[in-house]
Amino acid sequence: MTRLQKTLAVSLRKYDFSETSQVLHLYTRDYGKVHCIAKGAKRKKSAFHGPFDVMVLYEVIRLEKQPGALDLLTAAEALRDYREVRADFARFSAASYACDLVDEFTLEGQPQPELFELLRRMLEALAGGSPVTPSVFSFEARLLRILGHAPRIAECGVCRRRVIGPETYFSARDGGAVCVRCRPRDPTRLLVPRAVLDAMGAFVEGRPADLRALPNLVDHLRRVMDTYLRHLLEREPKTMRFMREAVLAPRP
Ligand SMILES: [Zn+2]
Repeated sequence: MTRLQKTLAVSLRKYDFSETSQVLHLYTRDYGKVHCIAKGAKRKKSAFHGPFDVMVLYEVIRLEKQPGALDLLTAAEALRDYREVRADFARFSAASYACDLVDEFTLEGQPQPELFELLRRMLEALAGGSPVTPSVFSFEARLLRILGHAPRIAECGVCRRRVIGPETYFSARDGGAVCVRCRPRDPTRLLVPRAVLDAMGAFVEGRPADLRALPNLVDHLRRVMDTYLRHLLEREPKTMRFMREAVLAPRP
C-alpha cells in the first residue's frame, strides 16, 4: 500500500544520491521526520524547480513507501528560503543548529506538529532579526519540553526540597537541579549560580529571561545546556561548535 501525502516541511539535511538525485531529511508538520528521495532534482528540468537546499520551508507531496524504504518525493514548492538567515554567519549557525537538533532528537514517522511549529517560528525569528542568543536558548528549552526532557529547575532531585541559596548543582544524569547539600556524584555536574537555572526555567516555560542578571549568565547557561544536550544525545551535534561561537561572541 502506498499513498500520496501533502504537507508542509522544513528541510533538515540533504545528500547527493546520484548524478541527478538527492536524499532529504524533512521535518514535516503532519508526519514528523521523513527521509525521502527526490529523483532528478539536480537536473536542469525537473518537477522540483531546481535542487533542494536545507533550511527551506516547502510544501511537498510524497509517496509513502513501506517501512525501511525511502519515500519518494513527487512535488515540492519552496514557500520560504529564509534568505536573511543565510546572509549572516551567526544567524546561519543558529538556524543550522536548530535543524540539526531536530534531526538528532527525532525518529522517522512520529508526528509532533508542535515541534514543527517551533522550528518554523525559530527560522522566522532569526530571519526577522530577533537576537540570536535568547532565540537559541529559547529554542533548545522548548524543544526539550516538547520531547519530554524538560530539566528539573526548582527542586533538588535527591532530597526533593526546594533549591535555595545562591548556588546549585546541575546534574545532567539526574535530570536537573541538585542542592549543594546533596552534591551529585555525576562527574559532569556543574555548580552554578541559581539565577542560571532560573533563566533556564523561564525559557522552558516560554517566559522571557533576563540574560544580564549576572555578568557570566550566558556562559554558565551555555555550559549547562551543552552538558545536558550532550548527555541526552550521547554525543555533540556537529553544528554545536558554530552555534556556540554565534551565541557567545559579543554582538552589537
Ligand atoms: Zn538536596
